[in-house]
Amino acid sequence: MATINQNFLNLKESYLFSDIAKRVSAYQEAHPEAEIIRLGIGDVTRPLAPAIAEEMARASLEMAKAETFKGYGPEQGYGFLKRAILEHDFAARGVSLSEDEIFVSDGAKSDCGNFGDILGADNVVAITEPAYPVYIDTNLMAGRQVKFIECRAENGFLPEVPDFKADILYLCSPNNPTGAVLSKEQLRAFVDYANANGTLLIFDSAYEQFISDGALPHSIYEVEGAKRCAVEIRSFSKTAGFTGIRCGYTVVPHELTARDAAGNEVPLNRLWNRRQTTRFNGASYISQRGAAAYYTPEGRAQCRENVAYYMENAKLIARTVRGLGIPAIGGDNAPYIWMQCPDGLDSWSFFDLLLERAQVVGTPGVGFGAAGEGWFRLTAFGTQEHTARAMERFTNLFGK
Ligand SMILES: *Cc1c(COP(=O)(O)O)cnc(C)c1O
Repeated sequence: MATINQNFLNLKESYLFSDIAKRVSAYQEAHPEAEIIRLGIGDVTRPLAPAIAEEMARASLEMAKAETFKGYGPEQGYGFLKRAILEHDFAARGVSLSEDEIFVSDGAKSDCGNFGDILGADNVVAITEPAYPVYIDTNLMAGRQVKFIECRAENGFLPEVPDFKADILYLCSPNNPTGAVLSKEQLRAFVDYANANGTLLIFDSAYEQFISDGALPHSIYEVEGAKRCAVEIRSFSKTAGFTGIRCGYTVVPHELTARDAAGNEVPLNRLWNRRQTTRFNGASYISQRGAAAYYTPEGRAQCRENVAYYMENAKLIARTVRGLGIPAIGGDNAPYIWMQCPDGLDSWSFFDLLLERAQVVGTPGVGFGAAGEGWFRLTAFGTQEHTARAMERFTNLFGK
């Protein structure tokens, strides 16, 4: 009989979103008239930018003509998209990379998980907590030892360089779920740590387009020495509304290496290319045309408008919560507001209280790891009408 990957038995079942759904539907059943507002949504809700939708329509009609039909494309992504990425995401910020350092994919979640394919099971992995659950579970599936870097309220939930030696370290900035953003100096401390310890940094910048503070870095490669120690993973999901379309990319610099069993340094770019060409046949031509349209002046302007719409919500939530004297971070350069549960309540008790007394739904912080206990995530992805109404209810409930 076949055997399973035993590591899967080490995963904790995640009931977070199903538990939330259960509690919400039980409440709605008991109170059919209640108008429940969801500020727990982790998915974008604004429709696709017209410039992107039109380009994807044009690309699909290209596929319907013999002269312009496209079959398999390059596994690493089409040149037209990689050149747009290099110009707008990197050269514009003073970062010089080459086309073969960009690997286009079907999204950041896949890349976060798949990258482990080329890394040994004996690596010690450090993950900042609270965390996007994908980092933890994909490493447990591979049988790696995971250690946590607990982020604390006193530090504004910003991670600190670990006091232990990690072989692999995940960073997410702007952060989901906390909304905290690392400054260039803070990022530099991680890059220096990584270069001193031979640590591979996996930098998830899925939310970089939500940064408005001009001093904050968008890419880890803005820090000197990062090409020797870091891969960067990006996504069109939150920036351009691609959660259902699927497109992202990973940067693997040529300088980046890891050790083989004999102690030789092997370029990860070569290994990742081998992995992708073997296991992946590229993101769809239509998605990549849509992603390229994001970089046109119209596409950018339309997507910026959507981001600005969400950030209006973020600012309103942050202003309201802080105005009520409740400690909260995020919301300035990220679509997440991470608030402390009032009156010393734990995350789930506050979830219940908010549902019962204000008919507002958020996400219990403990669902992102033990370091999130006593905290709560609100997201800016609702409509402005719903968000404003939810904040009125907050004020009525918590205003003195
Ligand atoms: C949403 C999100 C992503 C994006 O994932 P896709 O697979 O590209 O949709 C990546 N990382 C974090 C932290 C996210 O919240």
